[in-house]
Amino acid sequence: MIKVRVPAKVNVQLGVGGLRADGFHDLANVFFAVALGDEVTARHGEGVTLTCTGPDAAAVPLDDSNLAARAARLLAAHHGIEPNVALHIDKAIPVAGGMAGGSADGAAALVACDALWGLDTPAGVLNVLAAELGSDVPFALLGGVALGRGRGEILAPLPVTGTFHWVFAVADGGLSTPAVFRECDRLRIEAGTGCTEAEVATPDADPALLDALAAGDPVMLAKALTNDLQAAAVSLRPSLADTLRAGTEAGALAALVSGSGPTTAFLVADAVTAEAVAAALLASGTCRAAHVTYGPVPGAAVQTS
Ligand code: ATP
Repeated sequence: MIKVRVPAKVNVQLGVGGLRADGFHDLANVFFAVALGDEVTARHGEGVTLTCTGPDAAAVPLDDSNLAARAARLLAAHHGIEPNVALHIDKAIPVAGGMAGGSADGAAALVACDALWGLDTPAGVLNVLAAELGSDVPFALLGGVALGRGRGEILAPLPVTGTFHWVFAVADGGLSTPAVFRECDRLRIEAGTGCTEAEVATPDADPALLDALAAGDPVMLAKALTNDLQAAAVSLRPSLADTLRAGTEAGALAALVSGSGPTTAFLVADAVTAEAVAAALLASGTCRAAHVTYGPVPGAAVQTS
């Protein structure tokens, strides 16, 4: 049996460029891996079977659309072998929450099946397969902090000092990532700026954000956190504004929507403040759950103990 732990991500910068002819947006995406994560186990089996446990398990598809099952089939096809594996996901990452939980499971399944089947696939090949599965999957393999360009899949690791402390507030239900991008385009048109590649400047990583990460300074990082999808996520789910306010009033250094939402992320000064902010968020009644965590942490990796 092979057990793989894989982190969720928060985007500490999510710069969204104009709508491209292929329907995607160019992104300047700074991914940050947090310890809140899923565990994927792989055992020998017949065909690909999948089970899932955890508070959100009922929302996870167990058919071939699941990114973990797709990853197992893709890896087997690449090597020309039969995909025989029983996969189990122990799910802690909120589903459809903007934390790339499905992508994390895809990355974990690639690593787990590679080890179970004794394939020793080179890291570069795993990365290509990961990008084929989805734009957020390569980062779940890599972990740490990285700048993602293109659709997010072209990654460059970034230097970071120390550990940052976070609280994540889980909202009821999910938000569809494509719907949030569409709302972002709609808001840009409504504001008169337009939403196409010709009309929106190509986003770039913010030097102040990169300095804050390198310095390990949460106060600097708090000032530099940005998410171009935040207005769209709040527009589709206005109650998120209340959650963001509750976290900052409780002492968070900064609050932002995680990726396309509806999970919200709160950067805090230390682990003690994290517990207080999580308790205040729960007491505010503006979220379903609040998780204390930290990062950066490594990407999908086989557990040895
Ligand atoms: P992202 O931030 O990458 O856009 P997300 O965190 O908002 O994603 P996910 O939890 O990845 O959202 O789930 C999005 C959808 O993907 C789900 O509604 C579900 O139908 C599908 N899905 C496929 N595989 C998985 C998986 N292993 N876990 C959860 N959802 C999955």
